[in-house]
Amino acid sequence: MKYKFNIWVEPDSEDIIFRNIDVVEAGISFIFWENYELDINRMPEEVLRRTEFNERNQLDISSLIKLFRSSVKPESNIIDIIFLSKDIYYKDKDYIFAATHIPSKTIVISLYRLSKTYDLKGFIDENTLRTRVFKEILHELGHLLGLDHCSDEKCVMSFSPNLRALDEKLPFFCRVCVDKLKDMGYKVFTSDEGII
Ligand SMILES: [Zn+2]
Ligand SMILES: [Zn+2]
Repeated sequence: MKYKFNIWVEPDSEDIIFRNIDVVEAGISFIFWENYELDINRMPEEVLRRTEFNERNQLDISSLIKLFRSSVKPESNIIDIIFLSKDIYYKDKDYIFAATHIPSKTIVISLYRLSKTYDLKGFIDENTLRTRVFKEILHELGHLLGLDHCSDEKCVMSFSPNLRALDEKLPFFCRVCVDKLKDMGYKVFTSDEGII
């Protein structure tokens, strides 16, 4: 079965994603190889219009996904990845970088913190941004396929409570996570394996 990835951008995340679409594709093909198609779409206006912010100017990710799904119905072989420029949170967490709603195959990645320095006062260089986006894509795709957080802090499936932890983990799955993906039928490599 060929998977279809729909990438959704809103006006303020558009430039970054258009410029770095190769990184998005690299993350997807790391797991799905050539077995996918990809489209880029604009976030539906009504979703953006109806989205509400909290007092810290953050989006509640559950309500955003609900709004998105009332506008774009999930389809069985389609995985939707939404890139937002706004900061996001979930339940009692102050903020999150990304989230995955498994039943509707929806991944949301916020570029708000990913594009910033640790103190959030400045912007980081494009290469660091690209690496962070790549790690977030692997991590969320891992969740989508059923992987939980990993206790190996170098593994891309480890939970990153802050940007420093995100930068310190590797853009790879550890051996344990690779084996789980292999059991599900996905051919994925870990950092110490060459791809020949
Ligand atoms: Zn996670
Ligand atoms: Zn792992």
